[in-house]
Amino acid sequence: MRREGTNPNDVQMSDVLCDFCRAEWTLERLFIEGHHGSCICGDCLSAAYRHVSIESKSDAQPGYKCTMCLEERLDPAYRSPTHPEAFVCRRCVKLAATALEKDPEAGWERPGGRRQREAPDES
Ligand SMILES: [Zn+2]
Ligand SMILES: [Zn+2]
Repeated sequence: MRREGTNPNDVQMSDVLCDFCRAEWTLERLFIEGHHGSCICGDCLSAAYRHVSIESKSDAQPGYKCTMCLEERLDPAYRSPTHPEAFVCRRCVKLAATALEKDPEAGWERPGGRRQREAPDES
């Protein structure tokens, strides 16, 4: 999301906030953009991934709209504990997790790990 009062013609990194925890976008913090400027940071994505994929929990409410894809979804969702209007559906969580994992610069690992068995190539 954008900070209130952001100049749409001159958006700064610090104007971009995580919809789920309101953290500012910085160079150290991973951010994934959804539709219409919605964003989720790497920490919230990890929490969401753990919630819907590892613990198989869901905070979905009937007719909820995912903050990231803006669709009314039927699949499980993660709801921000601090900003209850923010939901992310499992599809978006998985898409974001897959995209981040493929990006070596992101250095993101899905909770529970999967990369461990890929031993570093030292030959
Ligand atoms: Zn966040
Ligand atoms: Zn979604």
